[in-house]
Amino acid sequence: MRLVIKLAGALLDDAATVASIARQVAALAQEGHELLVVHGGGKIFTATLEKMGIQSQFVDGLRVTDRETRDIAVMVLGGILNKRVAGAISQAGQPAIGLCASDAGTFLAEPMSYDEGRGRLGFVGYLTGINVEFLETLWHAGIVPVASCLGLGADGELYNINADHMAAACAEFIHAERLIYLTDVAGVLDGRRVMKVVSTDEVEDLIRHHKVSGGMILKLEACKRALAAGVNQVRIVGGTKPDGLLSAANGGKGPGTRVLPAYPAAASTAS
Ligand code: ADP
Ligand code: MG
Repeated sequence: MRLVIKLAGALLDDAATVASIARQVAALAQEGHELLVVHGGGKIFTATLEKMGIQSQFVDGLRVTDRETRDIAVMVLGGILNKRVAGAISQAGQPAIGLCASDAGTFLAEPMSYDEGRGRLGFVGYLTGINVEFLETLWHAGIVPVASCLGLGADGELYNINADHMAAACAEFIHAERLIYLTDVAGVLDGRRVMKVVSTDEVEDLIRHHKVSGGMILKLEACKRALAAGVNQVRIVGGTKPDGLLSAANGGKGPGTRVLPAYPAAASTAS
């Protein structure tokens, strides 16, 4: 099975959590699945920007990324965090390789279009292509690729990509069967309750009634895109849940929230 696993940046701040996820990734790879791990940035990204005296502005949840901010994104996302994840998986007994977009031109991007009225987003992009052949070489060699959320533009510049959208686009481009978001909450919450299923036609209502906000809106949009592109199972799961990734990958009931394309009533009884 081909599977994309997205790790929230927030999970990377805790060594025990990283080690636990790495063990599960290693176990899945050793079962013979073709995995692509995509990760976001943690507190360390914001902390590094602060240390360097750079203040960020956000437009619709996206960080306005000037050249200096972009360079720090490459240092932190493509550097320390990428190596932290690849190192943890390798230490768990499964060789993994950390990739930044430029390496073998694996992840290509175009700048995100912007609305002049809201100002320029700078080096923020969206994923336009993947060097799938290169990833296949890695899988055949028994190596798990770990991607930072960056893309290489036609202009040779690196662009920052929202990691949730990057994971969905990766799932689309590599024709993954499953996409699992490991995040810092137990799933999509309705108050304190974890919603077992959310159908994509419910999403607008959830937003309108202020049940989901912020990053969760982007994540659900990304889920919708992946489902529309033919990904079979999309799930949002708490990254600190013991064996959460393994149970999510096994399908069936599983933890967290399963996002479905339609017919939530029929699906909730089936899941
Ligand atoms: P990630 O790093 O996993 O992409 P995001 O910050 O982008 O995390 O999105 C997850 C966040 O969305 C949660 O930490 C929470 O603050 C926020 N959120 C808003 N509404 C909800 C909701 N209904 N259920 C769960 N999380 C929500
Ligand atoms: Mg997010």
